[in-house]
Amino acid sequence: VRPAFQIVERCRKLAAHTDEPGFITRTFLSDAMRGVHADLRTWMQHAGMTVSIDAVGNIRGYYAGATADAPRLIIGSHLDTVPHAGAFDGILGVVLGVELVELLIGRRFHFAIEMVGFSEEEGVRFGVPFIGSRALIGDIDGTLAVLAGDAIRAYGLDPAKIPDARVTGPTLGYLEFHIEQGPVLESLNLSLGVVTAIAGQSRCDVRFEGHANHAGTMPMNLRHDALAGAAEWIGAVEREAVAGRDLVATVGRIDARPGAGNVIAGSAAMSLDVRHVDDAIRTGVVARLLDCARQIAARRGLTFTSELRLDQPAAPMDAGLTEVLAQAVRAGGHSDHRMASGAGHDAMIMAKQMPAAMLFLRSPGGISHHPDESVLAQDVAAALETGVHFLEQLERTHG
Ligand SMILES: [Zn+2]
Repeated sequence: VRPAFQIVERCRKLAAHTDEPGFITRTFLSDAMRGVHADLRTWMQHAGMTVSIDAVGNIRGYYAGATADAPRLIIGSHLDTVPHAGAFDGILGVVLGVELVELLIGRRFHFAIEMVGFSEEEGVRFGVPFIGSRALIGDIDGTLAVLAGDAIRAYGLDPAKIPDARVTGPTLGYLEFHIEQGPVLESLNLSLGVVTAIAGQSRCDVRFEGHANHAGTMPMNLRHDALAGAAEWIGAVEREAVAGRDLVATVGRIDARPGAGNVIAGSAAMSLDVRHVDDAIRTGVVARLLDCARQIAARRGLTFTSELRLDQPAAPMDAGLTEVLAQAVRAGGHSDHRMASGAGHDAMIMAKQMPAAMLFLRSPGGISHHPDESVLAQDVAAALETGVHFLEQLERTHG
């Protein structure tokens, strides 16, 4: 259990490196990231890794295999945070991986281990997420390189070297430890969850238009109330998601105009967010919900328009590597509960290029993206033990 306490302590220590005193806010290549890199560099070197920072600011620790031409296993998660974050989202996976390598005390496998602390996952600084992992799979286009170029240069790095960040050579796969950021594992009284897939996402901007008018003089039967139409539709969105299986649908934003208490709303603009691990189900749900909105609009004498903002396919984790992970969880005496991730993660990006697997740790209270975010030392110990079994199982398979 002592290494688990050290992991929690190190996460708390790294939380002190923040862009905003009094809060945990750490964005892509901010000055606070220098402190995180310095601490991680020390710990990685102590664990026997060779450390470098690539051109997008990912910190990379290389722990050599038994032979120079050994394939590599990549273990990673992200170092950046949302504004006013907790101390564990992302960074726990990096600190846990470093501890895992330290526990090997110099033991070599027939594969090398590369630890990656991704510089950017949340998309806070430039509104573009996953800059760190996208660099590893060679998915940084010219526009993004220009957008992030000044920040990269200000940090002392060279944007021209971004292509060198790409992973080359034989790779066994990618493993990520991450807090669940939801209440499911806690509700099942489980420490760990084996991620089967990362859900796909659809996001739309939608709008009902009617006629603004006087709230006192316009009789109910003559109104074209955009907000009342929106309210009817929001109820339908919720009913559709509740009736579905492992489906979530959310209207998280509404802007009613003109927005006065004594005026019937002339327009209501909203967001729609739909997530499911099956892309056909997800796109089918979106189509039904938009159709439902058109029917509501027609009945109420409103117009309805929609614009698709994001159509991101689901990312299944690799079946083989996930089975190795599930076995490792069971070898530690834990239940290998399988679950989908409703949130996006670096594993989703890495899965485009190599087998990826992901392990969730219980989030107490289901709390994340909040200062009260936490993790239980017993769950960290369980994840660490799983990591050891995972490496041993890979060694048996590839040795
Ligand atoms: Zn995260």
